[in-house]
Amino acid sequence: MWQAEVRVDLDAIRENVDRLRAGTSAELMAVVKGDGYGHGMVPAARAALDAGADWLGVCTLDEALALRAAGIEAPVLAWLLTPGLPLHTGVTANIDLGAASLPQLDEMLAASRTAGRPVRLHLKIDTGLARGGATVADWPTLLDAAAKAQADGLAEVVGVWSHFVYADSPGHPTTDRQLAVFHEGLAMVERAGLRPRYRHLANSAATLTRPDTHFDLVRPGLAVYGLSPVAGETYGLRPAMTARARVMLTKRVPAGSGVSYGHTYTTERAANLAVVPLGYADGVPRHASNSGPVQLGGVRRTISGRVCMDQFVLDCGDDPVAAGDVAVLFGSGAEGEPTADDWAEAVGTINYEIVTRFGSTRVPRVYD
Ligand code: PLP
Repeated sequence: MWQAEVRVDLDAIRENVDRLRAGTSAELMAVVKGDGYGHGMVPAARAALDAGADWLGVCTLDEALALRAAGIEAPVLAWLLTPGLPLHTGVTANIDLGAASLPQLDEMLAASRTAGRPVRLHLKIDTGLARGGATVADWPTLLDAAAKAQADGLAEVVGVWSHFVYADSPGHPTTDRQLAVFHEGLAMVERAGLRPRYRHLANSAATLTRPDTHFDLVRPGLAVYGLSPVAGETYGLRPAMTARARVMLTKRVPAGSGVSYGHTYTTERAANLAVVPLGYADGVPRHASNSGPVQLGGVRRTISGRVCMDQFVLDCGDDPVAAGDVAVLFGSGAEGEPTADDWAEAVGTINYEIVTRFGSTRVPRVYD
């Protein structure tokens, strides 16, 4: 008998990848960083590959190595690499590395020497996000150094890439500006004598809404898990994660009863309270106090009072709730339950954060 669980429907992941592939002629990199956005990196990666994903994308070297340790041989790109990492282990494991500066490139070339084989590079240009990526001013220097490393047999420049700021706001002018900068960056790549096989730029939103940004490879994350990057649109995707728990205890309390720490909620009438064993240690944001939606007994309710570390309370009025009943925090919405989007709206965040938090805690993850 389970107490609380995060269910992940791997068929939904497969369907979503299928759906994304149908909309592009580019190859597809399923982004599985952040423990597969909370869905479990390795199972999510396997489901995406089953459905025809060509690549996997992660942030850290450790994530990339964990994919290899699980026996996954598909191409993997890792792009968040701080100085001093044992990058040669990535080179040996045939991990592609994202490079955005000369010091990074130098470390990658040293790793290539240690590993005794050329490092596979994806050079990143900052087209406007001001996060990872070389500035346009630094780009020619990075390209020249990479071209020399390639000529010396130390590196293979496999990709050139960037990341969007506003792709989740279709029609935002920044996207066109970034695309123009990317095209300029590509022209410089050519002038540097480099012919990378992969040019890539599109996250989920651009994969779904901007075919002109697909180039040779698209990099969706969120949409793989069935969530939409654009508010109010579903794009035919199916959310893969459900978070639910069994009621631990019910009790009848009189009108005027303060509920949970700080008594931020008081019952208006005598009420049945249900105590649900999930709290902020399990990914329930404390901001969901008096706002998080939960389906219990076929009725959508709102968390009453503060979310605690391990539990929260629902005021169920006169409804006959019992210990052991299942409270659904969010799911696909197919049975009237709240969705990760509803949670994001209720607590003032984005659906990415909801699933990533819930899926990465002590709550067991179960796969359908
Ligand atoms: N590419 C990069 C560099 C990213 O950092 C991310 C995620 O943040 C993605 C692709 C996937 O983005 P999304 O989940 O919006 O599809």
